[in-house]
Amino acid sequence: MIDFSFTKEQGEFRKKVREFARKEVEPRRKEWDRDRKSALPINERAAAWGLLKSDMDNITKGILVEEIAYVDFNSAMPVVWATLPFTLDKFPGVPEEVKRPIQERILSGKSFLALCFGEPGAGTDMARFETRAVRDGKEWVINGIKNTISWVDADYYFVCAKTGQEEEGVWSLTDFLVPASTPGVSSPEVWSDMGSRGATRGIVQFTDVRIPLNYMIGEMGKGYILAAEFFDINRAFIGLKCIGAAQASVDEACEYAKKRIVMGKPISMYQAISFPLAEAQTLLEAGRLLCFKTLWKADRGERHTIEGAMCKWWIPEMTLEIVRKCLLIHGQYGYTEDLPFEQRLRDILGWQIGDGTAEPSKLLIARSMIGKEYVG
Ligand SMILES: Cc1cc2nc3c(=O)[nH]c(=O)nc-3n(C[C@H](O)[C@H](O)[C@H](O)COP(=O)(O)OP(=O)(O)OC[C@H]3O[C@@H](n4cnc5c(N)ncnc54)[C@H](O)[C@@H]3O)c2cc1C
Repeated sequence: MIDFSFTKEQGEFRKKVREFARKEVEPRRKEWDRDRKSALPINERAAAWGLLKSDMDNITKGILVEEIAYVDFNSAMPVVWATLPFTLDKFPGVPEEVKRPIQERILSGKSFLALCFGEPGAGTDMARFETRAVRDGKEWVINGIKNTISWVDADYYFVCAKTGQEEEGVWSLTDFLVPASTPGVSSPEVWSDMGSRGATRGIVQFTDVRIPLNYMIGEMGKGYILAAEFFDINRAFIGLKCIGAAQASVDEACEYAKKRIVMGKPISMYQAISFPLAEAQTLLEAGRLLCFKTLWKADRGERHTIEGAMCKWWIPEMTLEIVRKCLLIHGQYGYTEDLPFEQRLRDILGWQIGDGTAEPSKLLIARSMIGKEYVG
């Protein structure tokens, strides 16, 4: 049986997040963007509102992302990442006494965990990562550079490093938990990104960083699997973040089109205005269904790699175009920094790249359709 409805509790939760976003997020949106300030402090406010819970299902988390992104793109991900079991429940091997207090700090919005994959020489091609972890007695010693880390100001890093041999490819990778306060960890640079500025993306350098053996996450050589599982679900959240921003743009364009008079009538009376809005709403609904289907499958414990890949290649591209059209409907006003369209364009564009570009996602889909051996 297919049931497309949200539960009563999810409906109530949506209302609460909407109120939170209007009261707590909206007043800070411009400051995060204009002053390139990390949006992470919003997590303490989200915790105070009771929005951060470790036992939320993924569909509810999707609602959280979409509603926050409707108001501000940059603070949507930190809030949902604070709730992800990925952050710590799923850190097999790391002792409870280490991960439990960290999880409590993250869920109270006082700490944050950033993900360190991308390097100067490799992003998509994880097999080429050069950051290396070497066992030395009772410790791991990590050396390397991760140079594209969102929320570089986090207190903890999830670091994907090489422990095996070159020829093992992605099976040479292992994940580690590294507190940012560990000697040898530094963050020498934050990029001047065109958008997603509240996500403070920058470099994290590891120089002879020593961590206990049991800070290794999961099994040796299985680091890629943990990462891939995270990407599968995060791609639905990224989709909903883009949809939130695009839905706000469509709603604003509808309002504006009713009020703006051109050649004697509201521009909404011209089908060249109303039809693109109708098309945009249709695409947003389709994208929303795809994201929630991905999250629904994840909640049922079903594989959702292909749905996640579909969310990732399609939704940022589709929503970018919708926001562009909504900007144009606002004419010259749409082009100013007073209205949020230009920021939304910059922000969404960044997440066409962040968490993987379109091509590797299309490869995953094509291989599932045609067969791995037939797709280059
Ligand atoms: C806003 C933002 C936030 C980010 N946040 C994080 C973060 O928190 N943590 C983190 O680790 N990384 C983060 N990243 C990095 C991001 O995940 C990588 O940039 C991304 O995976 C692409 O890697 P790359 O930039 O090295 O490009 P490359 O892998 O070098 O790719 C270059 C180009 O080749 C294309 N390409 C790759 N493979 C193929 C193929 N098989 N066929 C055709 N074309 C292909 C790509 O699509 C791209 O256009 C972030 C990036 C951005 C922009």
